[in-house]
Amino acid sequence: MALIPPAVERLAAEFGRLPGIGPKTAQRLTFHCMATTPESTQRLAAALAHLHAGVRPCSRCFFIAEGDLCAVCLNPSRDSSVMCVVEEPLDVLAVERSGEFGGVYHVLGGALSPIDGVGPDELRIDALERRLDEGEVREVVIATDPDVEGEATAHYLGDRLASRGIVVSRLAHGLPAGADLQYADEVTVARAFAGRRSL
Ligand code: ZN
Repeated sequence: MALIPPAVERLAAEFGRLPGIGPKTAQRLTFHCMATTPESTQRLAAALAHLHAGVRPCSRCFFIAEGDLCAVCLNPSRDSSVMCVVEEPLDVLAVERSGEFGGVYHVLGGALSPIDGVGPDELRIDALERRLDEGEVREVVIATDPDVEGEATAHYLGDRLASRGIVVSRLAHGLPAGADLQYADEVTVARAFAGRRSL
């Protein structure tokens, strides 16, 4: 007979697939779930089950939304003349934590990486241009990660948007090179915003 019942093994295996969770943490989470009340694990299960049923990318900016549009796009007090372009939805949260930005977002869905087969067509650049065509945006702040792919994406966008007569800026250095925006602390992100420079 196995030392650990299959149901426990199964949950630990699922936890173990999550980013940043090693086998020991997976076991600890599993045993924690067993030690709590059935109601508490049912809440967790319901939250997980509801995730894909109720949440999808915002049809405008591709951040996460519970309906058609996300909370940022629905907020009338956001400045829709300034747009921050990021790689991933989590980057929106990093910028929001900095408290330095009151505009709207556009989530590209990644960064240019020819080695991985990610070209401009794999990113949401056409959708970005359609939004700019509407004429409301006066400044685009490119907040892609300060790594090789993020810099390449920023330069590509800078060139592609150059003829539009809008200000295109890039977050200042100060973000550690090679870093990931979503893990940067809020003070660093706020400083990078304040020191953004035109491309
Ligand atoms: Zn949105």
